[in-house]
Order: sequence, then structure tokens, then C-alpha cells
Amino acid sequence: MPLYLVHYGSEIGLKGKNRVDFIRQLRRNIQAQLPVEKVSLLHGRLLVESPHEDLDFSRVFGVAWWTKPLVVEKPTPASLHEAILTLAQRARERFQEKPTFAVRARRVDKGFPLGTLALERELGAVVVEALGWKVDLSHPQVTLHVDIVPGRALLYDEKHPGHHGLPVGSTGKAVGLFSGGIDSVMAAWYMARRGVTVELVHFHAFTEARYAHEGRAGKLARHLARYLPQLRVHYFPYHYFQAATLDLPPRQQRYELVVFRRFMARIAEQMAREQGGQAIFTGDSLGQVASQTMENLAAVDAAVHIPFFRPLLAFNKQEIIDLGESLGFYALVLEPYKDCCSIISRNPATRARMDVVEAMEARINIERLVEVTLAARETFCYLPQGEALKEETSPSVST
Ligand code: ATP
Ligand code: MG
Repeated sequence: MPLYLVHYGSEIGLKGKNRVDFIRQLRRNIQAQLPVEKVSLLHGRLLVESPHEDLDFSRVFGVAWWTKPLVVEKPTPASLHEAILTLAQRARERFQEKPTFAVRARRVDKGFPLGTLALERELGAVVVEALGWKVDLSHPQVTLHVDIVPGRALLYDEKHPGHHGLPVGSTGKAVGLFSGGIDSVMAAWYMARRGVTVELVHFHAFTEARYAHEGRAGKLARHLARYLPQLRVHYFPYHYFQAATLDLPPRQQRYELVVFRRFMARIAEQMAREQGGQAIFTGDSLGQVASQTMENLAAVDAAVHIPFFRPLLAFNKQEIIDLGESLGFYALVLEPYKDCCSIISRNPATRARMDVVEAMEARINIERLVEVTLAARETFCYLPQGEALKEETSPSVST
């Protein structure tokens, strides 16, 4: 059965007493996210067995790098001669000319007859002799790694990078406001990379959540779910808020966006409390659009009594897009989508005055709107392999 070698980041390695909990969470997440049979811990590395040939461990946060090694059972110096040549020949395909190389050996099994240095020399000599490669110990083009673990030798030359970070579920839980745009989905990705279990709240402008789920929001959620053991998205209709704000006097219209943000934050706060989350977050970036001035962000914060995070606050738009593009999120965002924020005036007040905000919230009876909207929630659970299930929700608030 194919075997994978997975290394976690040094951040986890440095966790002292809590290290075992982080590693336990990482093993659990690997089992939840990928079709694997067995995950065993061996001296700071994980050995993962799976019948599948093409697993990608970079989607599991906490992974620093991984590889699919050549495995030699019950290795002897002689059987390693053959294996190192197989590995070298495989690596050779990536180069036009014979590459320079080094052999790096590590021994977890101290019972192996040769010491690390002697083994490196011996296997290096085999490669020089059979293939005519040149040794370069300081800047080799290819490093042939040989890890001797009990009963086996693992040989590899390529390390596929992971995203580092911490295993999801190891640092708390937070509810994110998710618009179906690039910023909020990347904000959720970054929170998850720090080990946070994220749940998302999305406001849609449809008659039913399933249209949002089949549209851009659901597609992005599915893509994000590949990085998590599971992802729950709570969908809420925008129409109660919309109906309440149809006949605003002109002076209040410019406040609609800020009041809507405060409304969304209140819903996210309620969801966090209900689901055991300790914080909420958004994809806001300071000054990116007129509604994201410091005054407006502060006005939104003031609507809730829970820690409010904005992981992208200091990012430039292009940086967010570049990451989103490299991970396949950006292509999904380019699809057309009926977005409720675009219905709202795009000429918002940039310095929200609290007296106007509060007058408007009283007029539309915002507390009642929060209650009614909460009761209309529909939840979908997205799983890492692409499935999505609609949950039976029992509304927590009656209308
Ligand atoms: P995004 O790319 O996520 O849409 P943005 O830069 O376009 O972000 P805005 O549209 O101004 O920013 O929204 C700011 C933040 O408010 C978003 O990042 C998101 O967290 C939240 N938000 C906006 N619209 C919605 C929505 N329909 N449902 C839930 N949250 C939303
Ligand atoms: Mg947006």
C-alpha cells in the first residue's frame, strides 16, 4: 500500500507540553480530510498509509512538507544500493544534464549497521560510480534523502511544500462573514490556517439558500472545505432587511451599508454564541472601499460584544488576489452572482455618525430584524472530498 511521509511545521514542534494535542489534532484532520487508512507518529514525523496514489497533504494545515518515498522493507546496506539508484534515476528526469547531488541520511533506527556519515558516503559512491554524477555538498541540485526507521528505509528527493500553520481545531472557533467575494473567503482561509475552526455566515438575495449554495457562495465554500475537516455555512436571507429599508429618507440612505454591516455582525455574533465560537471575523481591508474607513469599521465593531477580527486588514487587494489565484479561489469569484451588497447604495457615508446610525436602527427595528432573519437560517455542511449536506435546522428563535 502506498506510504506517505508527512512532516509538521516547526511551530508545532516548539509547542512544548501542548505538542501532543496539536499532533493529535493534525492526525485527526489528516484522517478526516483524506482517504487514508493509518496515520502513525514516528519520531517527529507522520507515516500515512493509503490505497490512493495521488494524495495532496498540502491541504491539511500544520503540514510543513510531505513526500511519497520509495520504501525498502528490512533494509540492508546492499538493498539500499539498488534503491538509491532507482531514486536517482527518477530524479534525473527533471534535469537536462546530470545534476550535482548529495546524499543525506537520518537514522531513527540506531540498530542499523552503518552510521549516518558512513551510509551517506557509501550511497554517494554508488551514485558516482554507476551514473557519473558529481557530489556537491553545499549546493546540490538534487538531495537524495535516506531515512532509516525501524524495519524500513524511506528514500525521497522531492519535498512537496505544505502551508504550515496549525491544525484546524487546535486554537478555537470563530464565525466569519462570507460574501462570496475573494476577501472574505481568503480571510477564512487565513483564520483556518492559524488552527481556527471556522463557520461562515452568508447573506443571499435569493428566495432560498439553495440558489446561493449552487452559485458562487457554495462553490467557494466547497473549494475552501478542501482545507478543513468540515465547513458549515449558515445562509440567511437579505430580504427582511431589504424590505425594512425600502423607504428610507435620503439622509439615511447613505447609512444603509454601515447599518447592514452592523446587522450582519449581530447575526454573526449570535451564531458564534450559539455554536460555541469565541470571535467573529470579516474580509475587511482598511481603506479598500469607501465603507472600510476606520470610522466605519469602528461603527460596525460597536454593534457587537465579542472579539471582532479582520485578518486582511493590512493586506493590499493585489496580495489577496494573488494568493486567491494561486489556490484556485479567484477563478470562482469571477462568475456572475447576485450579491446583496451591490443592491445597496455604493455611495456610503465614510464617517458614520452614531446618532444617525442609531436613529435608523430604531426606525427599522433592527432587533426584530435580527430575530426574524436568524429564524430563517439554512445551513449546509461542506466536506473536504466535495460532498455537501443540507442540515436540518431547528430555529433557535421563534418568529
Ligand atoms: P469580499 O471580497 O469578501 O466581498 P469586499 O472587500 O468586497 O469583501 P465588502 O463587500 O465591502 O468588502 O464587504 C466587507 C466584508 O463584509 C466582507 O469581507 C465580508 O466579510 C462581509 N460581507 C459583505 N457582504 C456579505 C454578505 N452578503 N454576506 C456575509 N458577509 C458579507
Ligand atoms: Mg464584496
